[in-house]
Order: sequence, then C-alpha cells, then structure tokens
Amino acid sequence: MNDMPRFQGKADTLKEGLFLPSGVDGIYARTGLYEGVVESLAALISSERPAGAEVLRFPPVMSRAQIERHGYLKSFPNLLGCVSCLTGDERHIRGVVQRFEEGADWTSELGAADLVLAPAACYPVYPLAAARGAVPAEGLTFDVAADCFRREPSTDIDRFQSFRMREYVRIGSPEQIHAFREAWIGRAKSLADRLGLGYRIDLASDPFFGRGGAIVAASQIEQALKFELLIPVRSEAEPTACMSFNYHQDHFGLTWDLRTGDGGPAHTGCVAFGMDRLAVAMFATHGLDTDAWPAGVRKALKL
Ligand code: 5GP
Ligand code: ZN
Repeated sequence: MNDMPRFQGKADTLKEGLFLPSGVDGIYARTGLYEGVVESLAALISSERPAGAEVLRFPPVMSRAQIERHGYLKSFPNLLGCVSCLTGDERHIRGVVQRFEEGADWTSELGAADLVLAPAACYPVYPLAAARGAVPAEGLTFDVAADCFRREPSTDIDRFQSFRMREYVRIGSPEQIHAFREAWIGRAKSLADRLGLGYRIDLASDPFFGRGGAIVAASQIEQALKFELLIPVRSEAEPTACMSFNYHQDHFGLTWDLRTGDGGPAHTGCVAFGMDRLAVAMFATHGLDTDAWPAGVRKALKL
C-alpha cells in the first residue's frame, strides 16, 4: 500500500507547526515548541552518557585539511560544504562588491578558506585523541556534538542541509568497540521505547559517491559495519534513520596514527543521534500538542 499521500499531509502540518522557512530548502528557523523537545531529548541522551566520557562540543565549521585527510573527498565529495571568502586588499574587495551592486556575478572571486562545514560531529575527535599519544588500555570515550551540514537540498521534513548531531565515540580495541556498539543498540532501543517511538534496527550503508561508492557500500553491509535505528516519519514503508551505530575498523586509527599501547592502530566506533530527526519523529508520532503526549513520554522528557 502506498502510504505517501497520508504522510505527506501530515508532514506539511508538522513543517508549518515547527519551522519557519528561510527561502532555502532544508534550512529552517526552529520554533520554541520544537527546540524545547530538542533540549529535552539532549538531556535524556546526556543522562545515558557513558561513565568517563570526555565532553567536547565542536563549532559548525572544522579544518579543511583534516576533512581532506579523513578521505571525505573520496567518499562524499558531493555532500561537502566549503567555506569560501573574499580575500585581497581593500581595493580588490571593494571592486568585487561593486560588481555585485551592478548586478554582475561576484561569487567567482570567492576563494576557499581553510574551513569546511562539519559533515559529522565525530571527525575532529580522532586527530585530537591521536595528539595525546597511545590510547590507554581501557580505551577512550567521548561525548561530542556539532551542527552538521550535508549538501542535500530537499523539502522533506526528515532531510535538512543543516542539522544537529550528537555522538558517543569509542576508541580502543576491536572487542571494546564491538561491546560498545552492542550495548548502545540495546540502550537506543530502550530509549525509543521510553519515547513511545515505533522503530526497527537494520543494517545500513553510507551514501558513498559514484559507481565505486556502490562497491564500498556493499562491502560495508557485508561486514555489518553500520546499523541504523529507523522510525516512520515520512512513510511507514520508508522509515527514517534517526540514530546510527558505526564501526570504522582501523580506518581512523591508520589515518591519524592513533595507536593502542601495543603499537597497533586503534579501532573506533560511534553512536550518532540525529537530534533534528529524533525531534521530528517525536512530533510525527505524538502530534504537535506536547501537553497531550503520553504521560510516560512526558515523564521521560521531563516535559
Ligand atoms: P550518519 O553519519 O549515520 O549518516 O548520520 C548520523 C545521523 O545524523 C543519522 O542517523 C540521522 O539521524 C542524522 N542525519 C543524517 N542526515 C541527516 C539529514 O539530512 N537531516 C537530518 N535532519 N538529520 C540527518
Ligand atoms: Zn561518528
């Protein structure tokens, strides 16, 4: 059965009730009603923070050199947003502005800065950890968050170009990463239960670029490197990934020379919470009137 039309009407109502348009698809001003739920969800996730996790909050921009070294251009060049600015002396910059004022194109004068828009919250943590030397035997755990950007313009309520991501990141041995990921899949299910959300957990792959990317994605599935917690938001048939559970093997360990005590490359993994998708999923499931949400859900969110 095609449930799209029913969900589309609902999605439009949600969009009107929660967001204000900016003139650009996938970029919205968020209302107090919506932000209240985002904040409550963040507090609920914080209440499950792993013992000993180091808290770091990252800006919405990060080092371009770091994202280049991460291999992002090989994997997702189409999604990256780069910061570009006007440089040069005052005369040159005034000349460019003059072109704009005359209705001509001025953007060709922009030059790439040493910054990109962060595409995920965990990227800056690996070089930071590597700079501290060998990973201790008990491993490392971080609690990170950032405003993230991916160049995917869409009018869908579950796909923003700019969205908030919270992550718990684990660095250590393969066994430590596996145990962490298994525990978090269980914890995420019970969080979704407490929030009254319908969901399923499924194997997943990242949207690697191009034809070569399809092979990488197939191998990611085959090796069960990524799972997602999917919640019906836009459609029952195509539920939305609201959390992901990722095992990067030794990819970041090798990239950043991040080593364990025995000198081998550290393995890494992360659990990512899409804060905006989770909040939208809450409103899609329980409606726009938070006072009418089930008592247990209100309690979990301290509403
Ligand atoms: P991943 O790195 O697994 O692609 O993304 C981590 C999480 O960020 C996803 O599970 C999802 O909740 C959130 N996310 C990814 N892309 C988007 C998007 O386009 N819009 C929104 N609102 N959230 C996203
Ligand atoms: Zn991550």
